[in-house]
Amino acid sequence: MTTIREFHKKSIDNPDAFWGEEAKLVDWHKPFSQVLDFSRPPFAKWFVGGETNLCYNAVDRHAEKRPNDRALVFISTETDQEVVYTFAELKAEVMRMAAIMQNLGVSKGDRVLLYMPMVAEAAFAMLACARIGAIHSVVFGGFASGSLATRIDDAEPVLIVSSDAGMRGGKAVPYKGLLDEAISLAEKKPAKVLMIDRGIDKGFNKVAGRDVDYASERAKVMDADVPVTWLESSDPSYILYTSGTTGKPKGVQRDTGGYAVALTSSIKHIFCGEAGETFFATSDIGWVVGHSYIVYGPLLAGMATIMYEGTPLRPDPGIWWQIVEKYKVSVMFSAPTAARVLKKHDTAYMHKYDLSSLRHLFLAGEPLDQPTHEWLMGELGLPVIDNYWQTETGWPMLSAMPGVEKTEIRFGTPSFPVYGYNLKIFREDGTICDPDEKGIVGILPPLPPGCLSTVWGDDDRFVSTYFTLFNEPQVYSSFDWGIADKDGYHYILGRTDDVINVAGHRLGTREIEEAIQGHAAIAEVAVVGVADKLKGQMPMAFAVVKNADSIATPELAAALEKEVMKKVDSSLGAIARPSHVHFISVLPKTRSGKLLRRTIQALAEGRDPGDLTTIEDPKALEQLQKALSAAQG
Ligand code: ATP
Ligand code: MG
Repeated sequence: MTTIREFHKKSIDNPDAFWGEEAKLVDWHKPFSQVLDFSRPPFAKWFVGGETNLCYNAVDRHAEKRPNDRALVFISTETDQEVVYTFAELKAEVMRMAAIMQNLGVSKGDRVLLYMPMVAEAAFAMLACARIGAIHSVVFGGFASGSLATRIDDAEPVLIVSSDAGMRGGKAVPYKGLLDEAISLAEKKPAKVLMIDRGIDKGFNKVAGRDVDYASERAKVMDADVPVTWLESSDPSYILYTSGTTGKPKGVQRDTGGYAVALTSSIKHIFCGEAGETFFATSDIGWVVGHSYIVYGPLLAGMATIMYEGTPLRPDPGIWWQIVEKYKVSVMFSAPTAARVLKKHDTAYMHKYDLSSLRHLFLAGEPLDQPTHEWLMGELGLPVIDNYWQTETGWPMLSAMPGVEKTEIRFGTPSFPVYGYNLKIFREDGTICDPDEKGIVGILPPLPPGCLSTVWGDDDRFVSTYFTLFNEPQVYSSFDWGIADKDGYHYILGRTDDVINVAGHRLGTREIEEAIQGHAAIAEVAVVGVADKLKGQMPMAFAVVKNADSIATPELAAALEKEVMKKVDSSLGAIARPSHVHFISVLPKTRSGKLLRRTIQALAEGRDPGDLTTIEDPKALEQLQKALSAAQG
């Protein structure tokens, strides 16, 4: 049996042989003449000369052999809908959507922006774009008009596909008003807007001559037979903007052939999914996990995929497990935030259901804390695998790979570098760290198939953003700190811009956060570095208490602040003591649960925080500003 180490070594030492073999998992209309063209580093072209199509591989080839097998299961606990599409039905819907797009003037290379809730039509639209060679750019439905306008201007779509509203926790979240506002803010206005009317926001505004109704267009093309447009492997498949925790969003551009191969191979070697089985990723199509593991990955591998609109708690905290039982889900993918939410509820909701079909649960997107990891693995009695990757890479960089070798799962670590990634931990001078030495997680190029091929419309930004950490060697920087131990297990220690410099001492904000979290009264905390005339920077903490009683009066709050500071003194030393501990009831996060440290820092320093629409809960912003002005006054 091959070990992970051997498998990884082969992929790095001989990428041509390794990826040439993996490429057989995908159907090629025309075979490639060269596996890798790396003549212009750091730009890598995979499967040069090969012609293929993502939609053909995800839909048509399975519809030919297994037309009546489940392909897409749309479940909304918000609207009480459950619709199963077989591969044959999915193909028909995708061809209808493709025909509508063509009728609206979309052709190969054009951009189509999707601003959509989690409905089946969103998947149809993504696959329809892939079918006709149009480039989709999905913008997360939680983004408001400002963020949306920036992305419209960058992608310059000829068509936007949207919907009247999404639903969340039983409440309608109207989209159309935000979309209209975004289009009026944008300079590059799309010619057409295709509206999927769910009947949720009854009186939504319709712009004559621009807005088109999906249901009536669909009725005209019921028998549509839209052939696949074959694309060269390097032709772009989509643009996806990074979630914007840091700086201005970057349009991650993905290729076609490399992405198809990387995803299909990941389902086999990492996720252990088989054709005919069911994959359930609880993410949203607006994020990279939604692209890779709700839509493309499972379908490419011939699996059924679940598209779920709803929260993990409604109608009750057993809903996910109910879905697992009903559809015999074998692979599940979620995020630590969601796991922490479930941890607060009775595990009877989990044990009520037959979960025997489930083999693995994967979690990604943020650090998976040890207690949550241990809890979940104990309750489920199966491997819970921490997955480390980024929008940029499109598929896991660090993971256990049970399809290659069953390695021991250790808590607090996403295990090993995935095959194809020559991932190392680097010192700041560009040399490679020893075991147990902290450094920057980097990848020696070429980046493997599936990773971003460039930043949309800006090759220079691709190079200058990601590859200029050292003069020598040229390395892709993840902007995350990490450590690899003697056994090769990797640990992610936070983002490189989370380090602050207090009077010449370098401190990780995450270490301070962990110290504060150790106080029994604290539920959650964010620490940022704030400019200080004397010391360069000072840590400042924003904490959420478990029980509001502990800060019921100003005296109690002041006493708790002192205790928290003492806690930091005793675990890290007085140098790490925050200048202030502000108590707020909710931290500013994106809807995917990522803490917006940059935003907090900018506000604390009285700078322009930039785009604020990524904040999930507007209350967070309000409270933050109140706390800061109270401290100043
Ligand atoms: P932006 O790049 O716009 O600032 P972002 O980095 O938050 O946004 P993503 O690409 O969605 O957007 O997130 C990738 C980052 O999330 C990683 O670089 C890492 O910091 C964090 N991350 C993802 N998975 C894990 C994990 N398993 N453990 C620790 N951190 C993780
Ligand atoms: Mg990032």
